[in-house]
Amino acid sequence: MELIRSISQMQEISASWKGSVGFVPTMGFLHQGHISLVQEAAKHHAILVVSIFVNPTQFGAGEDLDTYPTNLEHDLELLRREKVDYVYFPTKAEMYPADFKTWVNTEIITQILCGRTRPTHFRGVTTVLAKLLNIVRPDAMYMGEKDFQQLVVTRQMVRDLNFTTRVVGCPIVREADGLAMSSRNSYLSSQGRQDALCLSLAIARAEELTKSGVTDFKTIRSEMRKIILDHNGRIDYIELVDSTSLHHLDTVKAGCRLLLAAYIENTRLIDNTTL
Ligand code: AMP
Repeated sequence: MELIRSISQMQEISASWKGSVGFVPTMGFLHQGHISLVQEAAKHHAILVVSIFVNPTQFGAGEDLDTYPTNLEHDLELLRREKVDYVYFPTKAEMYPADFKTWVNTEIITQILCGRTRPTHFRGVTTVLAKLLNIVRPDAMYMGEKDFQQLVVTRQMVRDLNFTTRVVGCPIVREADGLAMSSRNSYLSSQGRQDALCLSLAIARAEELTKSGVTDFKTIRSEMRKIILDHNGRIDYIELVDSTSLHHLDTVKAGCRLLLAAYIENTRLIDNTTL
């Protein structure tokens, strides 16, 4: 496994790929959610590239950029086990030099849901992904449905800017008790970790209601709200949307997605499901 630090070195390698390349962009502090993407990529590609970069531009003022967890040694150990070929680990200074002025901004679908609370977040995501696609030049990029809006926004950006990379969405990986795996779960106290279960419990309740024939979103949302409030959670949003356009829906129908963001202690967690 090669650890690549510089853009020119990565571009030199990617200019002459000999085989199909699967790419997994991450911010590190890896868990089984990330590894599931690597394992999916491994089924389809001869060459595996994983990037580790805590992208400063996707954090807003007052967010957790300075405290975002890292553990490079552990990350590299996990990636070595998966037989990853290249770990691309760029520096902030090289990715965003002092005279950096160009942003990739997908409109409208970045201002709803998570974009309401984090208005500059997706601009940071699409900008760094566009850069990474130009540097790594993969055939396919593997991303988690955990960050469902990010996946939809990325597909839109790739389509709009004619990147040839295929974007592959992979299912959410959960802890044994249901909590969606996230690097940010490490911020939670033991009580917070217990309370955080309310996200997956609320999602499970929505699934149960839908199975029993309830299709009215207001009814579903009010049941979910109760569960989250009962666990000391603070709701950012609970939304039912069309899974491609992200347009709001009032009733459960084919192709819809239920999305949820809530604060547990000071940590903002997200979860989602199809209904
Ligand atoms: P991050 O390091 O948080 O930027 O995540 C890197 C990639 O891993 C993104 O495509 C995430 O959607 C994906 N990911 C994070 N957590 C999970 C999870 N629990 N299940 C599946 N994918 C995940």
